[in-house]
Amino acid sequence: METTLRGVGVSHGVAIGEVRHMGTAVLEPPAKQIPAEDAEREQGRARQAVDAVAADLTARGNLAGGEAQAVLEAQAMMAQDPELMADVDRRIAVGSTAERAVYDAFAAYRELLAGAGEYLAGRVADLDDVRNRIVARLLGVPMPGVPDSDQPYVLVARDLAPADTALLDPSLVLGFVTEEGGPTSHSAILARALGVPAVVALPGAGELAEGTVVAVDGSTGDVFVNPSEEKKEQLSAAAAERKAALAASTGPGVTADGHKVPLLANVGGPADVAAAVEAGAEGVGLFRTEFLFLDDSKKAPSEEKQVEAYRQVLEAFPEGRVVVRVLDAGADKPLDFLTPADEPNPALGVRGLRTLLDHPEVLRTQLTALAKAAEGLPVHLEVMAPMVADRRDAKAFADACREAGLQAKFGAMVEIPSAALRARSILREVEFLSLGTNDLAQYTFAADRQVGAVSRLQDPWQPALLDLVALSAEAAKAEGKSCGVCGEAASDPLLACVLTGLGVTSLSMGSASIPYVRATLAKYTLAQCERAAAAARAADSAEEARAAAQAVLSGE
Ligand code: PEP
Ligand code: MG
Repeated sequence: METTLRGVGVSHGVAIGEVRHMGTAVLEPPAKQIPAEDAEREQGRARQAVDAVAADLTARGNLAGGEAQAVLEAQAMMAQDPELMADVDRRIAVGSTAERAVYDAFAAYRELLAGAGEYLAGRVADLDDVRNRIVARLLGVPMPGVPDSDQPYVLVARDLAPADTALLDPSLVLGFVTEEGGPTSHSAILARALGVPAVVALPGAGELAEGTVVAVDGSTGDVFVNPSEEKKEQLSAAAAERKAALAASTGPGVTADGHKVPLLANVGGPADVAAAVEAGAEGVGLFRTEFLFLDDSKKAPSEEKQVEAYRQVLEAFPEGRVVVRVLDAGADKPLDFLTPADEPNPALGVRGLRTLLDHPEVLRTQLTALAKAAEGLPVHLEVMAPMVADRRDAKAFADACREAGLQAKFGAMVEIPSAALRARSILREVEFLSLGTNDLAQYTFAADRQVGAVSRLQDPWQPALLDLVALSAEAAKAEGKSCGVCGEAASDPLLACVLTGLGVTSLSMGSASIPYVRATLAKYTLAQCERAAAAARAADSAEEARAAAQAVLSGE
């Protein structure tokens, strides 16, 4: 029977497919005793699960090839290690269940490895993965991590962190549904980057059975469970119609009366560049360089590796602007070698620029790599720092850029309310501002961007957030400098008009949103956008602000 669930739509479009859950960490199996006569059957179950996991790892290695194949084959061998299996059998013979015996035998082996020198200690994570796979199979729960599927699916998760999603195969993910997360969570950002529909903060998402067919409407936030054929056709037809209308809009971002608002792309690395070019992005407004750092949690990527990645992005926009954000580690994007492990409140701790000022060598390598990557290219390179709190932060960053000999404009992200309140002071040190409305909302409303329960306060239509945007844009105008938006607020077509009316000079967003924003902006004059902005700021809630702006723009 068809049922409808409602969450928050954060990435446009419709996805229809089967649910696959992102497996969570395997729980410790209960330590219950089995009768002696069951031991043989349990030993058989354990062996079967081990063999199946080893076969699966080998098969995936054959598919992957290269270095990945060597790692997966080594894991398959670990699974079948004769001593480990003998230990599992012994534990079952004295009353353990198969899953508990595997769990305990691997724990003992893990301790041995962890104390056996650096190389073997480095294999502990691989061993844990093998154990989790065997235990998950024995318990009949989804495998931990990204689903093993060669058919396209709708990914359902509690929430998605950048590290979880690094392994996703974008060609298999039709859409996302998450139980937690708000419009600015990483699930939402990633969905927009991939151009797949997504619904977040959906209560009950975790209870959707594996394999259930769902239709996800990323514009309305509706998730239809077991949709009828009629519903599927209706949703697909509406989505196709909208897509065709959007394809007709091309060219730079401009209001109906010719006021230019460059539309730029948010990218995470070279892999996102093709979509940005295809969407007609006029450049990159936010290059989130931390994605380059996720491959190895123990050290920064080498200067050469960084030069190569930066150059690929810079070359894609030979005449355009490319705004590179230096590493934003910490809080929801922790890196083992940089982020303190014991902070009571990581979002308010050492993250973003604070991390880099504590590790100047990481910042220096990044800036030197950027200088080398830009050598000989006509690109307009701009570099900005995340989480700038005050003028002192801005100066420290600008000094580091100058010391690295970087030929670029230096800017500051406005993500902390203090930076918006004192934007003029910050602009004494840097040449542009870029509003990170995701974090700016988080810190203005004391609402963690990863917590679905407070997603109401993450709504970028909140008038208090619009006030801070206006303050920053006015300060930049007074200083004759630019002030863009690169947070998710820019990807909402109606809000993009309001931001333009508030004086924002460019809008940067996930590439899939560019056609939607371009088409809407082209319908209104700057004066209309300004009136809509004033009406939104005069409202008392996000809902009222949206309705007020909509009323102005539709001439009601
Ligand atoms: C923001 O906070 O708005 C932003 C653009 O940065 P991120 O989402 O990567 O924290
Ligand atoms: Mg941010």
